[in-house]
Amino acid sequence: MDSAEEFARAKPIAEATLAAMMRHHVPPTPSNYMLWYTHLAGTLPELSRTIEILLSNRQEFTAERNDELFQRFFGSDGPLTSVQHTGDRLQQVMSKVLQQIEVAGGEARAYGKTLDSYTSEIGKAESVERLRGIVSGLVKETQRVAARNAALETQLTQSSGEIFELRQNLEAVRHEAMTDALTGIANRKSFDERLRGAAREAMESGEPLSLLFLDIDHFKTFNDSYGHQLGDQVLRLVARTLTDCVKGRDTTARYGGEEFAIILPNTRLVDAKRVAEQIRGTMMRRRIVGKSTGEDYGTVTLSIGVGAFRPGEPLSELLGRADAALYLAKKTGRNRVASEEEAAGTVKVPA
Ligand code: GH3
Ligand code: MG
Ligand code: MG
Repeated sequence: MDSAEEFARAKPIAEATLAAMMRHHVPPTPSNYMLWYTHLAGTLPELSRTIEILLSNRQEFTAERNDELFQRFFGSDGPLTSVQHTGDRLQQVMSKVLQQIEVAGGEARAYGKTLDSYTSEIGKAESVERLRGIVSGLVKETQRVAARNAALETQLTQSSGEIFELRQNLEAVRHEAMTDALTGIANRKSFDERLRGAAREAMESGEPLSLLFLDIDHFKTFNDSYGHQLGDQVLRLVARTLTDCVKGRDTTARYGGEEFAIILPNTRLVDAKRVAEQIRGTMMRRRIVGKSTGEDYGTVTLSIGVGAFRPGEPLSELLGRADAALYLAKKTGRNRVASEEEAAGTVKVPA
């Protein structure tokens, strides 16, 4: 596209962008402009969908929301941008491969035709001289095609290498999208997906399935006393402790802020309570030591709620029971485990 065409295409979008931003009280900063221009140009459907949902729910475009949108769609390490980029590259490589295959097909057809014409010439050749000429032409043509094929093969090998690399890129992006950046364990999105999968499997196999909700006790006080940075270190320590205490099939996830969840497939409520007790005991014994200073900050404790899946129920009910159990564990003193039975009042809470 030359610059006149580009100008003609971009001008109405730019005007509509500014008008929309004014209408919705979005400050005309460069990053907001980029968001709204992209939305109105329609080049990032996911972004347009998000903005339209926000608009239809009459949500305000606060500074925080605008920032979050920008980070999500254009942040330097935003998974979406990398997916977009990888997707574009894949498309380019694929169309290159198709082109190469088409060229190869054309060459093969042309070579076929050449062979045909040589065959009929051989039939008509009257002298050895003529025959020698035909054969030497045939050899030259064959050598040319062989060289061409070798070049094509190199190009195809290169393309397939590129595709392999892009696939690895996508895998890395996918992993990143499912992982909590601070602790390296599964994030909420991944937890939701795994819990759905585990419930489906439990329904099919008839095996039990349990769920733990864990929350750090008085974590706000810890943060307030020693600072967020050390708080973050504690979150990593908790994540590591949980992972250490469970088996390969179990999923440990950061559910939000200072809350964690563990999915325990093939585990009955009574066994899940035992796992929870073991985690609680391990955590309260781990000392928090400042990385650089070596200073001892004592320990943190966990309150844990335990729930068991009832085949066929909506997952929100299981989550609700585990959460109610966690709430009971908090209410009855913290640094303790409570089960859904105790929370429902069907079993007495131990003193
Ligand atoms: P309770 O025993 O009732 O759970 O008390 P609490 O102080 O742990 O709970 P509350 O919900 O009042 O506070 C949670 C605190 O967790 C608030 C915030 O300081 C801290 N927090 C949440 N996410 C993070 C994080 O990513 N890093 C750090 N350092 N702290 C976090
Ligand atoms: Mg909490
Ligand atoms: Mg807490």
